[in-house]
Amino acid sequence: MNVIFMGPPGAGKGTQAESIVNEFQIPHISTGDAFRLAMKQGTALGLEAKKYVDQGLLVSDEITIGIVKERLQLPDCKSGFLLDGFPRTIEQAEALDKIMDSLGSSIDHVINLHVDRSLLLARLTGRRICRSCGATYHVLFNPPHTENVCDKCSGELYQRSDDTEEKVGTRLDEYLNKTAPLLSYYRNKGNLREVNGEQEIGTVAAQISLLLRGQAK
Ligand code: ADP
Ligand code: ADP
Ligand code: ZN
Repeated sequence: MNVIFMGPPGAGKGTQAESIVNEFQIPHISTGDAFRLAMKQGTALGLEAKKYVDQGLLVSDEITIGIVKERLQLPDCKSGFLLDGFPRTIEQAEALDKIMDSLGSSIDHVINLHVDRSLLLARLTGRRICRSCGATYHVLFNPPHTENVCDKCSGELYQRSDDTEEKVGTRLDEYLNKTAPLLSYYRNKGNLREVNGEQEIGTVAAQISLLLRGQAK
C-alpha cells in the first residue's frame, strides 16, 4: 500500500504517520526528517538543504526529488510506504508519477489533513520532538508524562529551529503558494481523501485507518 500524507505544516502528518506505519508495517519516508538528519551530520546535502530549511523555504525540487527517488528504490518499499511531506510542488508530484511508473507501481491513497491556518501557529510553536527516536509531542495538546522527556524512549525533547513564529509565517506562505495547488492535481486523479485534522489525535488516526482499509467513504 503506497500512501501520501498531505497537509500544511502542523496539520499532524508526522503524528499520524507514527501510528499508521506501525499498524500497516510500512516505512515512513519524511523528507523533512531526511533533511534534518543530513543537516545534523553536516553532509553536502545537509549544507545545501540548510540554506532553505533555516529560512522556512522549500528545498529545491532537484535535490528533493533526488533523495526520494533513491529512497523509493530500496527493497523495503516494495510492500508499500508512507510519504510524509512529499510531494510539495507540482514538479515533485509529476516526478513521483514517473518514479512510480518506472517501478511498475502507483500511489493508492492521498490523505489530506485539513487544519485551519488559525490553529497552525499554536501547534507549531508548541511542538517538541524527541532527539533520540523522533516522536512528536506538544506542550499543551499532547504533552509527555514528564516534561521534556520522551514517553517512548526517555530521550530529551527539543524544539525545531524553524518552529518559531517568524519562520512559521514563511512556511505557511510556501504551503499556500506551492503545495496547496497539488490538492486539485490529486483530486483530478481521483485518489484524494480528506480528513478533518482538527479532531483529537486518536479520532484522526481511526479515520485514516478506516480509509486505508477501504472501509470508509
Ligand atoms: P512540517 O512537519 O512542519 O510540515 P517538515 O519537517 O516536513 O515540516 O519539513 C521541514 C522543512 O524541510 C521544510 O520547511 C522544507 O524546508 C524542507 N522540506 C521538507 N519536505 C520538502 C519537500 N517535499 N520539498 C521541499 N522542501 C521540503
Ligand atoms: P506535521 O508533521 O503535519 O507538521 P505534526 O504531526 O508534527 O505535524 O504536529 C504538529 C504539532 O501539533 C505537534 O506538536 C503535535 O503534537 C500536535 N498535533 C498533532 N495532531 C494534533 C491534533 N489532532 N490535535 C492537537 N494537536 C495535534
Ligand atoms: Zn523518544
